[in-house]
This record gives sequence, C-alpha cells and structure tokens, in this order.
Amino acid sequence: MITVRVPAKVNVQLGVGGLRADGFHDLANVFFAVGLADEVTATPGDGVTLTCTGPDAVSVPLDGSNLAARAARLLAEHHGLADPGVHLHIAKAIPVAGGMAGGSADGAAALVACDALWGLDTPFEVLLELAAELGSDVPFALLGGVALGRGRGEILEALPVSGTFHWVFAVADGGLSTPAVFRECDRLREEDGTGSSLADVPTPDPDPALLAALATGDPVALAAALANDLQAAAVSLRPSLADTLHAGTEAGALAALVSGSGPTCAFLAKDADAARAIAVALTASGTCRTAHATYGPVPGATIGTPTP
Ligand code: ATP
Repeated sequence: MITVRVPAKVNVQLGVGGLRADGFHDLANVFFAVGLADEVTATPGDGVTLTCTGPDAVSVPLDGSNLAARAARLLAEHHGLADPGVHLHIAKAIPVAGGMAGGSADGAAALVACDALWGLDTPFEVLLELAAELGSDVPFALLGGVALGRGRGEILEALPVSGTFHWVFAVADGGLSTPAVFRECDRLREEDGTGSSLADVPTPDPDPALLAALATGDPVALAAALANDLQAAAVSLRPSLADTLHAGTEAGALAALVSGSGPTCAFLAKDADAARAIAVALTASGTCRTAHATYGPVPGATIGTPTP
C-alpha cells in the first residue's frame, strides 16, 4: 500500500493573456502550494478502480474521467504495462471545482503512488512530462513549493522563497467551471473595450515586486502584490464572493483574493494566530461554507503514512 499526500495550490499571481488559436490563454502564473491536501492511497487491484471520501466526495467522478484514474492509465501505457492493476482511494480535503486544482493534485498523486506500487522508478522529469499531458496544473502538484508557470501554466520554473506564509481559505458551496470563468474573463474584456485576443492582450510577465516579496518572506509586501486576472470574472459569475472577500478583510486579512478560477477565496494573514482568528470570523460570517487556516509553501506530491 502506498499513500501520497498532495497539496492544493493558490495562484499568488494569475496574469491572463489573450486567447490563443488553440483555445488556451497564455498565462503568467505564480503557483504556491499550501497545506490543504488530498491523500491518494494505491493498493493492488484488478484494473483501475476508485473510491473517494470527504465532504465533497459526491461531486468527484469515479469513472475513467477522474484524473487519478487517467494518471494511472497513462503511466501504465508509458511503460507498456498491458494489464495494470490498482485500486486508488482518494481522501479528499481540497474543495472540488474550487479553483485550487484538486483534480490535478489527485492526478499527480496517482502518478507517484502507482509508480511506487508498480516498482517502476520513473525519472522525475518523465513524471513531469506525463503530468503535463494530463493537464496544465498537474506538473505543479508534483513539484510543490512556489513556481512560475508559463505557457498554459505547464512550463515550470521553481522560484526562491523564504519562510512560511499563513493563509485562510474560504470554501464556497458548489464549484465554478474553470473554462466558464475564462470565457467570462474574455467576455468582460470585450465588453469594456479591451479586446480578448492575443493582439489585444499581451502575454503577461511575472511581477518583480511579487517575486521579491516571496524571496524575502515578507507577507505585507506579498499582500500588496497579489493579483488574479480571473477575479472579476469569478465575482461576475458568483456575485456573493464580494461579500466573502469583504468579510475576510474586515477580520484582519492583509489581502483577499479569489483562488484561481474560484469560488474558493484566499486570505493572507500576518501570522498563524491571525490566520486562525480570520478563519473563525469567516466561518461565523455566513459568507462561506467553511474556512481553513493553513500555511505554505509545502512540498509537492510526497509518499507518507495516511492520516488516521
Ligand atoms: P483548477 O483550479 O485546476 O481549474 P479546480 O480546483 O477548479 O481546478 P477540480 O477540483 O480540479 O477544479 O475539479 C474540476 C472538475 O474535474 C470537477 O468538476 C470534476 O468533474 C473533474 N475531476 C476529475 N478528477 C477529479 C478529481 N480527482 N477530483 C475532483 N474533481 C475531478
């Protein structure tokens, strides 16, 4: 039996360029791995089968479309295994369709878990390539820490970071579809006259002030530099997120932003005590389903022992 713990991500910068001919957007994406984590346990099985537990388990597909199952099949195919056998159990803590790349995390965890269960010893660079085939956010879940993602987000460069930052995540009821949020971003850009094509919106660059704040471990400077080009689109599709963001700021957060494509909202706190107080205030505010205090950066998908 192999258990892999894998982190959720928050995008501390999500710069969205114009729409490319292939339907994707060029991104300047600074990923940050946080302590909110799923655990994927692989045991020997017949074919590829799945189970899932956790508050959002009913929303997780248990068929071949699940990213953990797709990852297992892709790894088997890469090694020419004709008859791969594994049962994957996902203990899900990352909100589903929450903008924290939970499905991608499970895909990365399944790659690592099946690689160990089947004794394949796949080089890390090859796992990263397989991860990129599965989805734009999957390679980062393998890498963890803090990284700059270019292209669709899948071309990664680890970034220097000092110390620990304290975060709170407010989980909403229900999810938002990532493609729908990108479409809304394009629509809002057309509406305000900016235009949504590559000619109209140049490929964004990482913000030097943000990179410096990460490198020096300065939460106040990081708070000032947090930026998400998808935030307006997520709030447009889910106007109640404005109340959640406001409640966290009122409770003392240094900054508030929508996590990726939402609807999870992320709050940066000055320290662990402040994060705990903000989580309590957010839960009591009635503007979210629940709120978790956590920290980061943390490592990517890692083999360990299951949490009891
Ligand atoms: P991202 O931030 O990468 O856009 P997200 O966090 O908003 O993603 P996910 O939790 O990854 O969203 O789920 C998006 C959709 O992917 C779900 O609605 C579900 O249908 C599908 N899915 C496939 N595999 C999984 C999985 N292992 N866990 C959760 N959802 C999965």
